[in-house]
Amino acid sequence: MERSYDVIVVGGGPAGSSCARTLVRGGAKVAVVDRATFPRVKLCAGWISAPIWDVLGIAPREYPGGLWPWNTCHVHYRGRAHAVGCTGWFIRRFELDDFLLRSSGATLHTGVVVKAIERDADGLWSVAGLRARHLVGAGGTHCPVARLWETPRPRRPVGVQELELPLDPAAIAAARVGKDGEPELLLHDDLRGYAWNVPKTDWLNVGVGTLDPGEVRAAWTRARTHFRDAGHLPPDAEAPLDHVKGHSYYLYDPVHLDGAARPDADGRGGAYLVGDALGLAQPLTAEGILPSTLSGRLLGEAIVAGDPAGYPERLRDHPVIVDYRRIHRVRVAVSALRRPGSGAGGANGSNGSNGAGHRGRLREGASRLTARAIATGFAWMFSGARLPAPRLVDLALSTHERRRS
Ligand SMILES: Cc1cc2nc3c(=O)[nH]c(=O)nc-3n(C[C@H](O)[C@H](O)[C@H](O)COP(=O)(O)OP(=O)(O)OC[C@H]3O[C@@H](n4cnc5c(N)ncnc54)[C@H](O)[C@@H]3O)c2cc1C
Repeated sequence: MERSYDVIVVGGGPAGSSCARTLVRGGAKVAVVDRATFPRVKLCAGWISAPIWDVLGIAPREYPGGLWPWNTCHVHYRGRAHAVGCTGWFIRRFELDDFLLRSSGATLHTGVVVKAIERDADGLWSVAGLRARHLVGAGGTHCPVARLWETPRPRRPVGVQELELPLDPAAIAAARVGKDGEPELLLHDDLRGYAWNVPKTDWLNVGVGTLDPGEVRAAWTRARTHFRDAGHLPPDAEAPLDHVKGHSYYLYDPVHLDGAARPDADGRGGAYLVGDALGLAQPLTAEGILPSTLSGRLLGEAIVAGDPAGYPERLRDHPVIVDYRRIHRVRVAVSALRRPGSGAGGANGSNGSNGAGHRGRLREGASRLTARAIATGFAWMFSGARLPAPRLVDLALSTHERRRS
């Protein structure tokens, strides 16, 4: 097997394979090293949103794996069910990652765990017996390349528990809320997490994620009880669901981009992070496949253009990431408003239903409308929609931030 490459990519998930694919198309000699042999299981609900097709450069009909398009998202929030019209797709990660990696055109070194990373006397990276000028860290949350330098992490990662299990399609069809592929989401009252239940014909994917990883186990118990009591889990799912597995990863934070690149002074080589290794997941929904493929592609383009140092800037300026920055600011602003002493009620405050007479009814009506708006907004975001009225949002955020500083 060839030992010298232009680029070594550590990690063959969506971030690593889309980076490799872009580099190979640009004429680079690329090796991808992954400790797993593919196809491999990756904990993931497998939802993807519309912008991913542009990033991957393929149309949905060209994707050879199982694809579940949906047009309704079933959101349960504060005791009420909302069916929200919006669009998205589900895939199985077992298939998607294998497809992306194999079609990347890179030389694959799978079943190889990267432990030591060194630089030789010529300034080349030396990884698992391979050598290259550029090193890409695409190894997910615990990427060994990310450990080479201190990556800024102002917040804790999100905690997630999940299982995708094969079941009788008739049993899944009998228990699901809507059509095949339509997601059911259970939004937490305080919006600090949500659970999902997704039918994929003969597979069911059930899980939960929380902003605070310490809360994920209790949230899983509640979610399971909710889906079971609602009759939305086939009886055969019960025993396997005792064996959900957990993982954690970082939501996008603007300072993460400070750790995106370590280019050499002469620009001819360096080390870079993409995907979960950098911490790019959507700040509200925690969608991670899109920003992973996007960052992989943008880094690949920067290296091909001879501008690897420009990678963080390319990422920062991309419309998807510009929107993430805005959503991150909204999240920070809302958390500040919820803090005790801020003068604003938290999301867990009274829903107004205790009030008597006209004012009580008005409060209840407003509370219902707010809940409906939140459920709808979340479903839209889940389907990959951008924040509406960005200039107005920016103006409101700037005013709020000025007042607080
Ligand atoms: C339970 C759960 C559900 C999720 N659901 C969704 C969803 O529905 N939609 C969505 O968009 N996002 C979802 N995400 C997030 C999404 O899965 C990640 O953001 C995405 O997988 C990140 O891609 P990546 O390529 O950066 O990393 P990964 O997909 O984690 O790939 C990293 C690769 O690096 C390899 N690797 C790691 N360490 C080493 C080493 N030392 N040596 C060699 N190889 C190594 C691993 O084997 C792995 O193949 C979910 C996450 C979790 C945990």
